[in-house]
Amino acid sequence: MAKSIAIDGPAGAGKSTIARMVAEELKFIYVDTGAMYRAMALYMLKEGVGADESEKIVSSCQKADITIKHENNEQVVYLNGENVNGLIRTEEVGNMTSAISVNKAVREKLVELQQKLAESTDVVMDGRDIGTVVLPNANLKVYLTASTRVRAERRYKELIAKNVSCKLDEIEKDIIDRDYRDMHRELSPLKQADDAILLDSSDMTVLEVKEKIVELYKEKN
Ligand code: C5P
Repeated sequence: MAKSIAIDGPAGAGKSTIARMVAEELKFIYVDTGAMYRAMALYMLKEGVGADESEKIVSSCQKADITIKHENNEQVVYLNGENVNGLIRTEEVGNMTSAISVNKAVREKLVELQQKLAESTDVVMDGRDIGTVVLPNANLKVYLTASTRVRAERRYKELIAKNVSCKLDEIEKDIIDRDYRDMHRELSPLKQADDAILLDSSDMTVLEVKEKIVELYKEKN
């Protein structure tokens, strides 16, 4: 049976960087589920669907064909045949994503795709509901977090490095709002699975977190 590691946690905790490194070390495939929700949000923005138009979201989501391929060790997300990796990392898409990801039809469609991916391939999958909903039998579950200030500072540095002008306080507020929505939604809210291991990365380097997760996996498997 295929092996799996589930990494959940709030925005900016370092999940994707760390999940990618863990996958590389263990020769697993890294699956970034947030990118699938982001591609879905991009589709809604393109179609002019509003964040609160739940009926339109349900009908539009059936028209969005989202697929994942792994090319040169990178996950590439295709939306109706178009590679959208370069379009889904904006704050606008991020905020729309957390709004549409409360929708049942959106979640059902993407969870099915994620479960299929993990059936036949060893995966490190990151998201919000991986340990609780998508892969309840994962071989290791990690809940990765850090303080909101540390997470905002990391995001701020990333944006500044890309020459995007931004304010640290606004980023922190966006993170707090997004976490609140993700943690308090009715369907698959972000929470630590009962059998997940809590890791707070506020005072840890990326490398330390990666090594800790690999060690935990090796201990358990
Ligand atoms: O991980 P990332 O920041 O790219 O995720 C963007 C948004 O997608 C999250 O804020 C959350 O609302 C949604 N998401 C989700 N379930 C997942 C992954 C992401 O609801 N498994």
